[in-house]
Amino acid sequence: MSIRVKFIGATRTVTGSNFLVSTDKSKIIIDCGLFQGRREEYYTKNSSFPYDPAELDACILSHAHIDHSGNIPNLIKQGFGARILTTDATRDLCSAMLTDSGHIQEEDVKYVNKIHKRKNLPPVEPLYTRKDAENSLQYFSGHPYGQKINVTEDISVTFNDAGHVLGSANPLIEILDGEKTIRLGYAVDLGRNNMPILNDPVRLEDLDYLIIESTYGGRLHDSVDSTKDRLAEVINSAVQRGGKIIIPSFALERTQEIAYYLNQLLQEDRIPGIPIYVDSPLAVNVTEIFIQHPECYDKEMYEAFRSGKDPLGTNRIEYVRDVEKSKNLNFDDRPMIIISASGMCEAGRIVHHLKNNIGDPKNTILVVGYMAENTLGRKIVERQEKVKIFGEEHLLKAKVEIMNSFSAHADRDELYEYVKPMKDSVKKIFVVHGEESQSKIFLELLEKNGFPAYLPAAGEEIEL
Ligand SMILES: [Zn+2]
Ligand SMILES: [Zn+2]
Repeated sequence: MSIRVKFIGATRTVTGSNFLVSTDKSKIIIDCGLFQGRREEYYTKNSSFPYDPAELDACILSHAHIDHSGNIPNLIKQGFGARILTTDATRDLCSAMLTDSGHIQEEDVKYVNKIHKRKNLPPVEPLYTRKDAENSLQYFSGHPYGQKINVTEDISVTFNDAGHVLGSANPLIEILDGEKTIRLGYAVDLGRNNMPILNDPVRLEDLDYLIIESTYGGRLHDSVDSTKDRLAEVINSAVQRGGKIIIPSFALERTQEIAYYLNQLLQEDRIPGIPIYVDSPLAVNVTEIFIQHPECYDKEMYEAFRSGKDPLGTNRIEYVRDVEKSKNLNFDDRPMIIISASGMCEAGRIVHHLKNNIGDPKNTILVVGYMAENTLGRKIVERQEKVKIFGEEHLLKAKVEIMNSFSAHADRDELYEYVKPMKDSVKKIFVVHGEESQSKIFLELLEKNGFPAYLPAAGEEIEL
């Protein structure tokens, strides 16, 4: 029988995870993420699929990040009518993440159409609306970790904890090939050991094939262990200067991790009792979902949760939904911590907070996440002298602190440690989900150590 994998998205780039697995009997996709990048490319790459969505038998979804789940409403709009198999927590997180994404699509199109009107161009439609996103939720089917689920006549899946974000999984896909079973592992994305809140990634064993991410294929993170100390240091130094601490953060996972650490630091009296705000409606919704899924917690988090210790600090930290309240933070001069989305500073309330605080050397911008090329976040990381916010130039005078230890992605050594025990069984390792230079470094590391590794080209289909 012929078994093929087509590498569609997140191939020689980070975003847009989408892989097609075809056999003689079935056709499924793994992930259906949004490609994120410049606007023109965004629409061309996300609006169509190189397969007929109506012909698919299932979608296996690894986790709720938008670069993995964000194009699902569009897939359904274009005829997909099968099940989206994922974990229970991912299903619930997608209800928040996808409706938020639908709202962003609608807002973005309003902006584009203003420009189109000026240029006498026809108006464009959003990729999908909030309503489309809500409609897509009925196709989701949530499952616990570790349970084997029949997907089609010849394909089954088991979700294994990826230790990346709440509910994230590294699915093991088993494909019947006559008498044989082909074991295909999918470690996109792969988390790290010792992360707060989450369990360590489960190692997939006896694989024939592995598709693995390489976001940090050529880089190393600071150790997780020093995170809390360094966070305390940054906050105490900012408070001494009398400034605000602005933390651009992803609404999913990063915000809850920071809340978790801040809450501990407060309880241990290691930072002063200044106001802390999580200013992002999405982050507030996601935090509520975190509280509903203790089955995903690691031991420490579970114990704290069970004994009523409020590990995410929901009583101490102020979670802001209201727009007026968010705006009022601009008029409050006290030292405070504002955690806000989006993580790369491209949209959402964080942009307003940056605009209002970036020019004052008393303030601190604390970068805790990956900033892609061409984003405002990346310009801040590069400490550019002037940055453009809402079309206006601002001097970057605030102190920029960067903490790499928060990463939810395995770094070069952690990726290598993960694949090392597979050496005898694995027939091919496909390196994906990385900027090309990062993927290549990891590929070379694998090849140098005798692994059968391969870097597919975007759109390439490979017979297993
Ligand atoms: Zn992810
Ligand atoms: Zn990803």
